[in-house]
Amino acid sequence: MKPHLPAASAWTRLKPPLLRFLDNCLSEFSAEASGHVADYIPELSKADPAYFGISLATLDGHVYEVGDSRVPFTIQSMSKPFVFALALDLLGAGRVESAIGVEPSGDPFNSIRLNSENHPFNPMVNAGAIACTGLIYDSKGAAAFEQIRAALGRFAGRDLAVDETVYASESQTGDRNRAIGYLLKTNAVISDDVAGVLDVYFRQCAVLVTARDIAVMAATLANRGINPVTGEQVLSAYAISRTLSVMTSSGMYDYAGEWIYRIGIPAKSGVGGGILAALPARLGLGSYSPRLDKHGNSVRGIKVCEALSSHYDLHMLNRSDD
Ligand code: GLU
Repeated sequence: MKPHLPAASAWTRLKPPLLRFLDNCLSEFSAEASGHVADYIPELSKADPAYFGISLATLDGHVYEVGDSRVPFTIQSMSKPFVFALALDLLGAGRVESAIGVEPSGDPFNSIRLNSENHPFNPMVNAGAIACTGLIYDSKGAAAFEQIRAALGRFAGRDLAVDETVYASESQTGDRNRAIGYLLKTNAVISDDVAGVLDVYFRQCAVLVTARDIAVMAATLANRGINPVTGEQVLSAYAISRTLSVMTSSGMYDYAGEWIYRIGIPAKSGVGGGILAALPARLGLGSYSPRLDKHGNSVRGIKVCEALSSHYDLHMLNRSDD
């Protein structure tokens, strides 16, 4: 006997409200065509600007997804919080915190400027992220990249691959990041092998994720380091809370202050078009849409986060005991 299927409109009504909300975001913000796909890493310019995927993971392990939520793209700067958290746990907070600051820089993410102690301002700008990778490389050598890739995979709940073409493209053109590497070396933040450190950093930025992966990774941050889908404690609660702290103050390029004022959810974006937002004890959101605004944040991704925060009243500084 054929199962009795409700008509399409009935299906729409049966959809969980959260999924309907995400669907509405997708259809409403798909019309937004402003912004530009990043091209300073030549391979990134080939991304289809029409891609738009959104995923939201709750702490009971439900993952909602709409649109191009399974399309892979490179993680880029969204790797930075996870590698910072990994460095804290692998090397000890004392080591990491003595080498990398936690103050917003007020400079662009790729600025070749260190703080008054000749240390990176924070782990969310390139100098701090390259320093994090460098500290792991100094300690683990050739095993450093595999440790980073494996940790990112535990956050996502699956094995993650590298986009070798994007990696090669950034490696061929990434002299500004190399300059930062040498600046870190001359100030003894990282030791000798700048080329080796940059190789790991470029690979880490070229790890492939989907909006769904990013939602699960964000939910793991929101869940004190326990992946809500796999149940694994990926990193310590200390490392996660400090990571969320720097995401709060410095996660969204030169828009970080405005972001936390208006949206109020710790977040990190990447030039590949991803945004990761982690609301502690609540949810993780991942979005993918490659067109970026003047700050380097995904135009549609920002709109999704604004809508989510205001529709569900999620500003983290506007909470009661609920
Ligand atoms: N791989 C990129 C770079 O270092 C990441 C930048 C970003 O996503 O903000 O320039």
